[in-house]
Amino acid sequence: MKSNLKLTLLDKKLVKCRACPRLVNWREEVAVTKRKAYQDEKYWGKPVPGFGSNYPRLLIVGLAPGAHGANRTGRIFTGDSSGDWLYRALYNAKLARLPTSTKVDDGQKLSDTRITCAVHCAPPENKPTREELANCSNWLDLELRASFPSVRAYLVLGGIAWKATANSLRAIGEELPRKRPNFGHGAKFEFQGSDGNIRLVIGSYHPSQQNTFTGKLTRSQLDSVVRKAGRFAHAKPL
Ligand code: SF4
Repeated sequence: MKSNLKLTLLDKKLVKCRACPRLVNWREEVAVTKRKAYQDEKYWGKPVPGFGSNYPRLLIVGLAPGAHGANRTGRIFTGDSSGDWLYRALYNAKLARLPTSTKVDDGQKLSDTRITCAVHCAPPENKPTREELANCSNWLDLELRASFPSVRAYLVLGGIAWKATANSLRAIGEELPRKRPNFGHGAKFEFQGSDGNIRLVIGSYHPSQQNTFTGKLTRSQLDSVVRKAGRFAHAKPL
């Protein structure tokens, strides 16, 4: 399997970031106070790096770690309901070894797929400020640049990540179509990358409890969009 040293180094640097005082305080406070159900666990309490292949064809961009999910386990989308939905859909699309992701040593492995997020520290009420998004966009730019050679499809979860991904692609010098659809479930566009390869950007409602409990996002809707992104990402040899 090919590897990408730039992404590995990026992850190592990221976990030391303290650029957002409010988020540093929050991630560390939550790691000490903990949720009752996890009192015996040691929380991660640091920026959560991307997870999966470091030579990915499919890059999934979410919003931010959950306070008692990824901020606890140290793996993105792991240990909460959003992750249960996402990894199940990846498993159904044959992009994940296991249907669940519960902790860093559970044996989960993604196939040609990496998951990251627009903001790498858990924000209070899952709401990063504009300034925090801008701070963390530096990391997203670096990650998109480092993964660009192998990525053929971007699956973007939610409207904030949709905007952040487009901004970062432009920041690394990619030209996106002027007329792009607004964010929505299944919204998509293609662009020709600076290396000549066609890439897909496709949106999905975020599998947050707010969307899954209310029925705004169903399992079949999520399965469908993950499959589309996976098929596109694997359509041509690298
Ligand atoms: S949110 Fe991003 S920029 Fe802010 S402290 Fe965390 S890793 Fe650093």
